[in-house]
Amino acid sequence: MKLNNLPSEFQKALPILKKIRQAGYEAYFVGGSVRDAILNRPIHDVDIATSSYPEETKQIFNRTVDIGIEHGTVLVLEAGGEYEITTFRTEDVYVDYRRPQSVSFVRSLDEDLKRRDFTVNAFALDETGTVIDKFNGLDDLNKHLLRAVGVPSERFNEDALRIMRGFRFAATLDFTIETETFEAMKSHAPLLEKISVERSFIEFDKLLLAPFWKKGLSVLIDSGAYDYLPNLADSYGKLQSLRDCFSKDFCFASSEQAWAALLLALDVKDPKEFLKKWKTSSQFQKDVSAIVAFYRYRLKHEADKPLIYKFGKECAYLVEGLRQAQGLSVNFERIEQLDQELTIHDKHEIVVNGGVLIKELGMKPGPKMGKLLKGVEEAIVLGDLANNKADIFNYIKEMMNV
Ligand code: ATP
Ligand code: MG
Repeated sequence: MKLNNLPSEFQKALPILKKIRQAGYEAYFVGGSVRDAILNRPIHDVDIATSSYPEETKQIFNRTVDIGIEHGTVLVLEAGGEYEITTFRTEDVYVDYRRPQSVSFVRSLDEDLKRRDFTVNAFALDETGTVIDKFNGLDDLNKHLLRAVGVPSERFNEDALRIMRGFRFAATLDFTIETETFEAMKSHAPLLEKISVERSFIEFDKLLLAPFWKKGLSVLIDSGAYDYLPNLADSYGKLQSLRDCFSKDFCFASSEQAWAALLLALDVKDPKEFLKKWKTSSQFQKDVSAIVAFYRYRLKHEADKPLIYKFGKECAYLVEGLRQAQGLSVNFERIEQLDQELTIHDKHEIVVNGGVLIKELGMKPGPKMGKLLKGVEEAIVLGDLANNKADIFNYIKEMMNV
């Protein structure tokens, strides 16, 4: 197959391929960008594979950065861009079902393509636009099939992350997983416990944010692999309810919203604890917990000022987005109006703080003062008190006389 109109990302990088070839080596575009170009999908990172060894690659270009030289990757700054150029390699010995113990650099493109996970990820594209397809990936692309390169069970045994990648690609590409590949994903799913949680998170997160996330989630559910992911064991029915509780074409607007929906479907009592097991950042834990809390409150109440103040307008919008997709009542205008009516969005905007009270009213620091300031904050948020010094001082004096 020949691609007649190379996407601009490839056009721009052609001088790199040519330069490597002129130096006496082979060079190709490889990986997901070739797949996406054939599918007419937008391209992100352009990966280049070459027969030149890293030290040789560095000789060819003026500006290079060693970003992963032990894996054979050199970053080249040229042709107005940054390109990762990786030496053809094989990954022979795998330890802990994830990282190859060592990579060997090789001169053969075929060897390099063999180590790749799925046939549709194992294309190479040369500078004339010819697609090199060693594993009938073009056939699979036409049939929308995701098939492991080589013997599926061996490939998942080598690297269990490929199982998660498989679910993820089903969700991003709207592909069906070929039967033998799916059976091997199923039987090797227990190995998911051995791979890094952070890597599983990235794949699961990409799955949830993908346009065909319901398809990806379905294969994850059908495979039973969720049993080996943090806090998801025995969640068959609840994961199904996550898949089925939204309108047909609904897509999550952010990772935070997606994970909040997952936690709500699982009826998780302590979102932070749950997300800690997934080794997410504390900011992410906080943001997801806020959506979950807001959503649960919203099941029984309209949105109100204290809630918008506490969690923010964005959080409220994400909650309404979930509600809308579930056919529940929504009120975006109310959120907008309440937010506009809020005279402060953060307690630091209050013109009086502890320091002012000590200096100007001679008050003593302590729990009593903290309580007073909390009362001031609440009254301002509710709109019962204006955010100016005179009114706040009056309010405090009144409170102290009670
Ligand atoms: P995306 O569009 O999300 O970037 P991608 O196919 O480019 O998807 P990457 O994770 O960027 O995926 O990896 C680039 C290529 O490297 C893949 O297309 C595949 O050929 C190969 N690859 C990546 N991870 C693995 C793996 N765990 N096992 C085998 N091959 C892999
Ligand atoms: Mg990629």
